[in-house]
Amino acid sequence: MGNTLIDGALIVTMDPDRRVIQNGAVVIGGEQILAVGKSDRVKSDFTYTDRMDATDKVVLPGFIDTHVHLSEHICRSLIPDDAEDWMPNWLMPIYANLSAEDEYYASLLACIEMVRSGTTTFCEAGTCIHPAAAAKAMQQVGIRGILGRWTWDLRPEPISLKQSTDAALENNAKLIDYIARLNHNRIRCWPLVLGMDTASDELLIGAKQLADSQGLGLGFMHASNIPSMETVDTMRSLRHFADLGVLDRNVKITHMVYTDDEDLDLLQRYEVKVAHCPTAAMKHCKGISKFGRFPEMKSAGISVSLGADSANGSDHVNMLRIIHLVAQIFKDSHRDYRVFPAETVLEMATLDGAEALLMKDSIGSIEVGKNADLIIFDRHHPEWHPLLNVAGSLVYAVTDRSIDSVFIAGEKVLDQGRMVKIDEQEVYENVDRLSLKLMDRAGVRPVLKWPLS
Ligand SMILES: [Zn+2]
Repeated sequence: MGNTLIDGALIVTMDPDRRVIQNGAVVIGGEQILAVGKSDRVKSDFTYTDRMDATDKVVLPGFIDTHVHLSEHICRSLIPDDAEDWMPNWLMPIYANLSAEDEYYASLLACIEMVRSGTTTFCEAGTCIHPAAAAKAMQQVGIRGILGRWTWDLRPEPISLKQSTDAALENNAKLIDYIARLNHNRIRCWPLVLGMDTASDELLIGAKQLADSQGLGLGFMHASNIPSMETVDTMRSLRHFADLGVLDRNVKITHMVYTDDEDLDLLQRYEVKVAHCPTAAMKHCKGISKFGRFPEMKSAGISVSLGADSANGSDHVNMLRIIHLVAQIFKDSHRDYRVFPAETVLEMATLDGAEALLMKDSIGSIEVGKNADLIIFDRHHPEWHPLLNVAGSLVYAVTDRSIDSVFIAGEKVLDQGRMVKIDEQEVYENVDRLSLKLMDRAGVRPVLKWPLS
């Protein structure tokens, strides 16, 4: 197969010099970027068989979402936003009754939504019940991602999700082996531990050893997302995890809303990666505008990436909505114009994500030798005019409706607004059908405050 030339675009490279190239070109050869630069120069130096006219287009590296629950898309926006019992009485019955078919279509839906909004790589949160079904969906869509499976050993309920420490670790090792045998270079697997209050010390240590022994990362979910004074077990602190030896540069921790100076010091010292999920945190009343210290983490050199979280937390997996919120909320909470400039937030959605997923040498920017994971925006939309400061436009003005095409590993998975390899209508119909059946099995129903006739 010959090379593909994307020609005439404004290219936001996110490279070490943060070059933004007018009338630029990218050459894709196989899965990789062979060249990026001024169009005339690139065309004189490289041959190509396909040319995509990208006049009036803007090219950006694909977004990287570091915390997504694929499965929950099957029951998006089911849980009332005033349900304080959302976890035990809503989510747990759903997860306890989730079938492989549910998870397959939920994953297809989430992956379609990610691609359509520019996310080319994601990390599952560690809540897959049938990860083989999720892997199949990822292959069909063509998205890059890291999978994990339901991993806890402390909670006895629901009984269908109960696991001993040994079983939780064994299941993780089996899944890592299964994904490796798929031999699909866009799908990886990490041990992903569900939560600080649902995993024993033995499970955390075992999961870290498993990650280290195979050169993988380890994802901790949902840490420091309740104030310490409400934490049932005060031993679940970063200091405790440091003492256990599980804090490290290959560890990603999600949320981290309530942190003190010692926590920031530990995150910095051990080069732990933080996944910040603003939309879910806000819907769940975590107080990030009051307590969140994410700008301080970034200033301290800690990697802070962004995650959409779940379909009843943020209810979407749209990175453009997330970066808009992050750029706004901390300026307001700190009452400081200098907090989280648009450029920094774009770095969090790309480069920090790549670092968090241990892929900074292969994704996160448009550079020669990296994977060709690209978003191509079409400027034939009002929000793209005038184009005076592309970082500002991307963060504050642009929505996903102007995303024209998406490449992942050099493969065009979204072409002029259409998913290339997926019958979207078939997915939507099956999700709608399966969600009703799942609610019946789980014994839950939406609470409608307005009459539906
Ligand atoms: Zn989550």
